[in-house]
Amino acid sequence: MNLTSAKNKIEDWFFQCYRMVVANSEKNKATVLNFHRVNHDDGGMDVDEFRRKMMFLKSHFNVISLPEMMQLITEKILPPLSVVITVDDGYEDSYSVITPILDELNIKGAFFITTIGIEQGLLWNDKIFNAIHRTSKTTIEGVLNRDQSIATKEQRKLAYQELHLAYKFMSLVEREESIAQLISILDVDVSDNVFLSKNKIAAIKSAGMTIGSHTHQHPILTMENDDDALQEIIKSQKILESITNNNIQYFAYPNGKFGRDFNNNHKEMLTTLGISCALATDWGCFTEDSDVLAIPRYTPWDKDIARFGIRLCHHFNKHKAQGHE
Ligand SMILES: [Zn+2]
Repeated sequence: MNLTSAKNKIEDWFFQCYRMVVANSEKNKATVLNFHRVNHDDGGMDVDEFRRKMMFLKSHFNVISLPEMMQLITEKILPPLSVVITVDDGYEDSYSVITPILDELNIKGAFFITTIGIEQGLLWNDKIFNAIHRTSKTTIEGVLNRDQSIATKEQRKLAYQELHLAYKFMSLVEREESIAQLISILDVDVSDNVFLSKNKIAAIKSAGMTIGSHTHQHPILTMENDDDALQEIIKSQKILESITNNNIQYFAYPNGKFGRDFNNNHKEMLTTLGISCALATDWGCFTEDSDVLAIPRYTPWDKDIARFGIRLCHHFNKHKAQGHE
């Protein structure tokens, strides 16, 4: 046996032991996992990794749907090792890649959709990505108060990361202006069709998945005034209700950190709109003490499957009660 396979065996054995401990001690608690795009060249997860993780969760954890989680917690019968799969944003791969894998494994996931993508074919961040990767220019001049070379792949990657971060915390108006300026400087066509269509959203719903709102334009809600924030939520909810012929009762906050990206005003808005369950990105487990309008999420990042499992067990073990971090 070589060193790598011995190490793998030990990790696998450790996972099995840890899983048994958690299964026997951590009841009435769930972890909501959060995924985005698969198979995109921004460096995220590929299809194989997503499939391996879903198969692993199905084999070793209790994968339940978001509505089931909400129901079982009120009856205090949430099984040990409960996990829920959520997918944010609403890219086309939610339909063509993620839903078929979940369907095959009989997993009911929840999809949170930024509805402007349905009409535009892409989101604000894709415009930045495409502008940088499609332009024939080798320098971005006059943005971020300096000239930034984008001649190499690595430079384009760094420029994207930097601009993405800088524009993310702008108001919608400011962000749109900045992106328009970038497109004009780089003199490039950024249009794309990488988003879900109405029919594909309806098909995901027909496959038994949950559809929820993720606002219309993916603003950081605290960067907008309350009126604009409310309109962002209402618009997206109405669009999704007309597509699914159902009330939209689920919501995921863009960016999702309580206090920084959303606050109690936004939770109140959701309540008035009939939204009963909203997901944050703060880390934690969901328990009967959790705030149902700021449900924490947690996604182990390891590509290695045993380590992914160990980190998830550790998360169950560590978070005795929900709390914002
Ligand atoms: Zn998002």
